[in-house]
Amino acid sequence: MEIACLDLEGVLIPEIWINVAERTGIESLRATTRDIPDYDALMQQRLRILEEHSLGIADIQEVIRSMKPLDGAADFLDWLRARFQVVILSDTFYDFAEPFMRQLGWPTLLCHRLSIDERGMIADYHIRQPDPKRQCVKAFHSLKFRCIATGDSYNDTSMLSEADVGVLFCPPQNVIDAFPQFPVAKDYAALRVEFAQASMRDL
Ligand SMILES: [Mg+2]
Repeated sequence: MEIACLDLEGVLIPEIWINVAERTGIESLRATTRDIPDYDALMQQRLRILEEHSLGIADIQEVIRSMKPLDGAADFLDWLRARFQVVILSDTFYDFAEPFMRQLGWPTLLCHRLSIDERGMIADYHIRQPDPKRQCVKAFHSLKFRCIATGDSYNDTSMLSEADVGVLFCPPQNVIDAFPQFPVAKDYAALRVEFAQASMRDL
């Protein structure tokens, strides 16, 4: 039995925070896990910036509602779901992800949640567990599933290492350089080939 484990941002949807940065004109919100590998440091910085600019959850959700999955993402996901059990393992938050899940046909998503204060500001964030993507793959292994994983960034690399096969999808050059052990797919057609080759079954 095989499970396909997908990162969300950068694989199926655009980077949410980059879009929020562009829409609000706050350049410092552009930083992602591609730039700051320490996720906790990155999130603390984001919450500080939001507070400084009085941007609340409603402002961010308004940006998100205007966004769409990446071109070809829905077709790729359909292709994959016909062939694998598919789970999206993301470091985003349920509070952000819903409009995308609606557009992608409500795939299974394991991510995190925010707490919102009475002003509608993001007061804190709650990571389900440390190193969550890797822990998911470990858990699937304990259930005797073989895991094929893909992601684009630093926060995916422990998942890719833990998986039976890990593939980078459209990663930035610094991630390619730091993790030369992973094959790289530069579009969905190439990613289909990687999944088909990684599978123990004839697809
Ligand atoms: Mg990503």
